[in-house]
Amino acid sequence: MDRQPTRAQWREFAARRRRTPRPGAGSEHRRLPEFGLEGYADLIGRVRDAGYLFAPAGEMRSEVRRRTFYLRHDIDLHLLHVDRMAEVEAGLGARATYYVALTQQYNVLSAENVAILHRLVALGHQVGLHYDLVCYPSDPDAALERLDWEVGVLARCCGAEVSSICMHQPHTGLENLFAIGGRYLNPHDPRLARGLVYVSDSCRAWRDETLLRCLGSDPPDRVMLNTHPELWLDASILERERYLDGVVMPNATRQASLYLDGTVRELWRNHAGGRVHDARVLGARERA
Ligand SMILES: [Zn+2]
Repeated sequence: MDRQPTRAQWREFAARRRRTPRPGAGSEHRRLPEFGLEGYADLIGRVRDAGYLFAPAGEMRSEVRRRTFYLRHDIDLHLLHVDRMAEVEAGLGARATYYVALTQQYNVLSAENVAILHRLVALGHQVGLHYDLVCYPSDPDAALERLDWEVGVLARCCGAEVSSICMHQPHTGLENLFAIGGRYLNPHDPRLARGLVYVSDSCRAWRDETLLRCLGSDPPDRVMLNTHPELWLDASILERERYLDGVVMPNATRQASLYLDGTVRELWRNHAGGRVHDARVLGARERA
C-alpha cells in the first residue's frame, strides 16, 4: 500500500495495456471494473478506446460535440490517499472533480489534508463542495449563506476557485435546494440531465451493468461516473465489510491515531507540568 506507482508508471501501464493483445479482449469489455487502482486505470483506458473525451463533472455541459465522460468523486469517508486516484487520472491525461465535504468525519483544515487538496489541484483536477443539507438551516436564504461560507472555506483550503457543488446522500429525501445551479454548477442540475447516463459505485457495488453500455456498440453521448476513491485503494479485498474493517477504518482513523499515539503521548511523557505534578503526588504519598 505504501509504495504507490508514480504518474509516469500509470502512463506506462496504459501504454502497455494498449500494446498487449489481450486474450478474449471481447469478453474483457463486458466485465465491470474491479475496485482497485489498476482496475480504475484499465477502465479509463477502455473508456478512452470507446471514443470518449474526459472532463471534470464540474465542467458539465448540456450539449457536447464529442462523446464525453464526466469524472466525479464524492469524498465521503476520508481524504487520506485520495490523491492516489488523482495520480492515476493525471498519468492517463484525465481530469476529475473531487467533491469534498466540510461536514464529514475528516478535517479539511488539517495540514495533511490541506496538502492533499493542493496536490489534487496541482495534478489538474477540480475541487468542488460536497454539501450535506442535514447541517444546513431550512430557511433558503440562510442556507445559501451557509453554502457560500462553506465554498469560501474550501477554496481557502485548496488554494483554488470552487465553482461546482453536489449534494451528499440525496436519497435521504431532503429537497435539493441548490440543484439548479445559480452561482455554482451542480451536475444534478435538471437542465443538464437530458440524455445523461449516471453510474455510481456507492457501497463498493455496481447497481447494474450500465457502465458496460459505454464500452459497447451504442455508447451514450454523455456519461457521469461517480466514484469514491476511498473504495478503490486495495483490490486484494473483495468482500465489502472486510474492506470496511481492513482498509476504510484504518485509513479514516489513521490521522487521529498517529496524532494521539505519537504527538500527544510524547507531550504527556515529557511536558514539564506533568513531571512537576507527578513529583508532587509522589511527595504527598511519601509524607502520608
Ligand atoms: Zn456523499
